[in-house]
Amino acid sequence: KAKRKGKNRYELYNPHMSIEMHDEMQRKQALHHALERGEFTLHYQPQVCGLTSEISGYEALIRWNQPLMGLLTPDHFISLAEESGTIIQIGEWVLQEACLQVKKWQEEFNRPDLRVAVNLSAQQFADQYVKDKIFNALEQANLDASCLIIEITETMVLRDFEHSTGTLEELRSQGIKVHLDDFGVGFSSLSYLSRLPVDAIKIDRSFIKQIGSKANDVAIISAIIAMAKSLNLQIIAEGVETQEHIEYLSKKGCHEYQGYYYSKPLPVASVRSC
Ligand code: C2E
Ligand code: MG
Ligand code: MG
Ligand code: MG
Repeated sequence: KAKRKGKNRYELYNPHMSIEMHDEMQRKQALHHALERGEFTLHYQPQVCGLTSEISGYEALIRWNQPLMGLLTPDHFISLAEESGTIIQIGEWVLQEACLQVKKWQEEFNRPDLRVAVNLSAQQFADQYVKDKIFNALEQANLDASCLIIEITETMVLRDFEHSTGTLEELRSQGIKVHLDDFGVGFSSLSYLSRLPVDAIKIDRSFIKQIGSKANDVAIISAIIAMAKSLNLQIIAEGVETQEHIEYLSKKGCHEYQGYYYSKPLPVASVRSC
């Protein structure tokens, strides 16, 4: 096994090992070299403004182009990268790459206001250098801070509420936007949300899916939107798949939409205009 033989990287490409590659251990080891081998890529999914129907920006979503396993979505490797700590370097790369890309598009499409949203992992957010890494990525790309959105989740913030709010306040004081991802599935309460320095919430797609069916979940969407509005937060719906979803959400006053209805996440070459 590659594990016993140490860190010999060529071991991973032994054809007799290809079946074992599905083993978590192997995937984890392959992950160590994936970054330096340039195997990661970002796909981009548009976020559409409810008022103008214009694309306001793109969410960057990582993919791993694994030579033996093909194009892998984050559910196949993010938690492994968290366990091994590789997520810190991967996350730094994502920040840099996303900032550079959106800067290119701003110029190419003559849209200097175009934004990019980047997901942070829990470890990355807790990293003492996270702010420096974010500021560095902006500086390297010469991207305006107001064009970067950081997506975090409720659970990440609750681990150390005081420290988290301090970090978020510092990011926001530089003009960076902070969005609360997968909202509604965590421990949402009005009292802590009111103390959180964020700009927007993204309603989790598990709720959006229920529009037109289960009465209770639809009631939750209404409650979430009312709560966010009372706190003057922007509201983004993720996982918008149908016209019905949009009609319902726009009646409730949702500000932005993201989902297959508009576009799946696309590789850079497929993003042609905005
Ligand atoms: P997320 O941030 O909530 O991203 C939205 C996920 O929903 C994406 O899955 C996207 O492809 C999917 N999605 C978008 N619209 C629809 C729709 O209409 N219907 C359905 N069924 N799905 C839709 P993806 O790309 O597989 O990413 C999964 C999660 O992995 C993300 O959830 C995010 O938490 C995490 N992730 C993605 N990229 C990164 C990254 O660069 N760093 C970190 N730490 N996590 C990432
Ligand atoms: Mg996200
Ligand atoms: Mg989300
Ligand atoms: Mg989600």
